[in-house]
Amino acid sequence: MTKKYDVIVIGAGPGGLTAALYASRANLSVLILDRGLYGGQMNNTDAIDNYPGFSEVKGPELGEKMYNSTMKFGAEFEYGDVQSVTLEGNEKIVKTDTAEYSTQALIIATGADHRHLNVPGEEEYSGKGVSYCAVCDAAFFKNEDIAVIGGGDSAIEEGIYLAQSAKSVTVIHRRDQLRAQPTLQKRAFANDKIHFIWNGITESIDGDGNRVTGVTYRDKVSGEEKKLATHGVFIYVGVIPQTAPFKDLGVTDENGWIPTDEHMRTKVAGIFALGDVRAKDLRQIANAVGDGSIAGQEAYNYLQSLND
Ligand code: NAP
Repeated sequence: MTKKYDVIVIGAGPGGLTAALYASRANLSVLILDRGLYGGQMNNTDAIDNYPGFSEVKGPELGEKMYNSTMKFGAEFEYGDVQSVTLEGNEKIVKTDTAEYSTQALIIATGADHRHLNVPGEEEYSGKGVSYCAVCDAAFFKNEDIAVIGGGDSAIEEGIYLAQSAKSVTVIHRRDQLRAQPTLQKRAFANDKIHFIWNGITESIDGDGNRVTGVTYRDKVSGEEKKLATHGVFIYVGVIPQTAPFKDLGVTDENGWIPTDEHMRTKVAGIFALGDVRAKDLRQIANAVGDGSIAGQEAYNYLQSLND
């Protein structure tokens, strides 16, 4: 049986939850679908200090608060891994691994996932020393020397988090300057436990068959190949959009991101996108929430326009 809602939001991160809040507060029936726990990437973030109103808050705690304030207006939440979205006139048919739904207003809030380095050893040792989540795996490397690969906000923020329990953290970055925001850079440079390898191009993650034993990298300046001994390698080299189920809708660009106008409208009438999955420069909780408020309101406006 196909369940029908005024609005379906795919993705329960901060943006998706905000869109659902605005739409359900406008008395629309709203379903939020997510293949995991609500909160999105906030669940993998220890401390958040750039969300207004909180001088510092744990990621999962902020997710819980956002979820509770959304559900108060009557939105429903269901687990579901969305496989496809197809169009039948104004109806958008959403198929998950277990159920089928239909709506006239669809909001895509699926966010972005970590990018892989695609070097030898990365896949083989994933879960055996290679990790993409410091909050999940820091405890396995207590008092050890560990490596972080990348130079953006995620690499530096998570490096600082890892340094709390590790003996040392060595950041291997492919350039001689970090991309991370200055406040994070300042904190990392002031931390005695955090060291940097500049101009280091990671060539492989090495292991003994059971677990990681080190990283091989090439010094971009000297051309020399070097090795760093470690049992833990945390990879933060950017993000990729989570848009596979939407590729046949024609809403994505050549890199898989979803362009929208300032009303969060995609190329398809009645399909909106928000937050990290959008083609945009700054990916933050604060602007995902801003996008969400617009998308929720615009979904309402769109449904009204169908009745005019
Ligand atoms: P990012 O900003 O795209 O940074 C990726 C980093 O990985 C860059 O330093 C990049 O080097 C490096 N890199 C990319 N491909 C590589 C490769 N093949 N080999 C080695 N290094 C590679 O990604 P992110 O740090 O995951 O952040 C994603 C978004 O979330 C950003 O918009 C960020 O601002 C946001 N974010 C914000 C916060 C916060 O506000 N507290 C926290 C986390 C994330 P180059 O610098 O040379 O390009």
